[in-house]
Amino acid sequence: MKAIDFLKRNKKRIAYVLTTICMLLFGLFSGMLIGPKEAAEQAPTHDPAGEMTGVLSVLPAARVEFHVSFESCGHEVIVLGNESLAGKTREEAEKAYPGWTIETFSGDEVVFTKISKGYCPKHYVLRLAGGELGVYRTDETTYEEKRLMVLDWEDAAFDSAERAELEAGIAFDDLNGVNAYLESAES
Ligand SMILES: [Zn+2]
Repeated sequence: MKAIDFLKRNKKRIAYVLTTICMLLFGLFSGMLIGPKEAAEQAPTHDPAGEMTGVLSVLPAARVEFHVSFESCGHEVIVLGNESLAGKTREEAEKAYPGWTIETFSGDEVVFTKISKGYCPKHYVLRLAGGELGVYRTDETTYEEKRLMVLDWEDAAFDSAERAELEAGIAFDDLNGVNAYLESAES
């Protein structure tokens, strides 16, 4: 009974309080609905570097290197690329140089690697192949081994162990080394 009297007497005040609560709830509810949507729409404009899409491309001043590791001597040859990869993505850069693997890829540096059989271009390789004794050297630009010359040789000059070594290929720093080896074998 007392409660009813209180309601009657404070009708206006209660109505005001209820209205306020309703407005607050509406504000909260609409905020929950609108808030996340706005955030989702704004997200792409906060990502100019392409981090969300994951597409990174090479900058015009990027350094491009080609690293070739040679299996027989363990040396590595590093060549600086002179063609620009500007604007290319990792996938596009990989397609531009078939046979190479990308080891490093960032906006300002791209490193391609390749493993090559045989010796690096520094060496002269004496090799017995198909019955012919030749001096071979790896080409500095194609990284393919080329025969520089064919030498006269006699069966008696090498024993079976030396022959096996020659078939595998013996590396020398220069042609003088090759000559010295052949002279000692003949004597
Ligand atoms: Zn080497």
